[in-house]
Amino acid sequence: NLSKRLAAVAAQVPKGSRLADIGSDHAYLPAHLLMAQQIDFAVAGEVVEGPFENMLKEVEHRGLADHLLPRLANGLDAIRKEDRIDTITIAGMGGTLITKILDAGQEKLEGVKRLILQPNVGEEGLRLWLAKHHFEIIHEEILEEDDHVYEIIVATPTPNPVAYNQREALFGPLLIQAGGPVFVKKWQKELAQDQYAIEQMRRAKEVPADRLAAYEARVALIKGVLEDD
Ligand code: SAM
Repeated sequence: NLSKRLAAVAAQVPKGSRLADIGSDHAYLPAHLLMAQQIDFAVAGEVVEGPFENMLKEVEHRGLADHLLPRLANGLDAIRKEDRIDTITIAGMGGTLITKILDAGQEKLEGVKRLILQPNVGEEGLRLWLAKHHFEIIHEEILEEDDHVYEIIVATPTPNPVAYNQREALFGPLLIQAGGPVFVKKWQKELAQDQYAIEQMRRAKEVPADRLAAYEARVALIKGVLEDD
């Protein structure tokens, strides 16, 4: 069975998708979707040998070799034109790495209708990248599992301009509207961490003023959003 986090990612994959799961490790996500007959074709990409071996075992063990193609490749290099991939999942890594993978593989995004991304941290830069590259965020989720808070960002290409302001990029354009207990918990924790960092900076000598100001601006932003909630 999938973790709550991966199940939430899986739930965003449209029935009948041709899926590429990048950084797939054991390939649990595409294997689950195939066995549940939600999809019948997937590519599972992995850049590291060890996890790649894991996925080979999983594919063999489940008898999925005709439908799930494991590929040892960096990022979107795992995708080939003939795969006709329309949905990409990238889960369980930092937002900066997800952004790099998308940025380096832009020509592979042609024909892709949906990105389902689950960054562990660093969501802000990822949302800004999506907007800059004409991807509109159509769904967001925040969930807690084993004391970790995870966000899921679902985006679709659009010919229209997309722009998120700093507040929307940081908190999520849809999450900020939805709020909720997990959202509040996450930002209360972030607020406490930022306030602590500011205290430490004030104590230390020779802290660059712009660095302190950036933290203070973030604290003000978080306070504002938490008060609205
Ligand atoms: N996606 C699974 C999940 O969410 O449970 C596995 C997450 S695991 C923490 C991250 C995986 O991404 C690792 O197996 C790592 O080797 C792989 N990875 C990291 N950078 C990658 C890249 N540039 N291309 C493909 N895979 C990558």
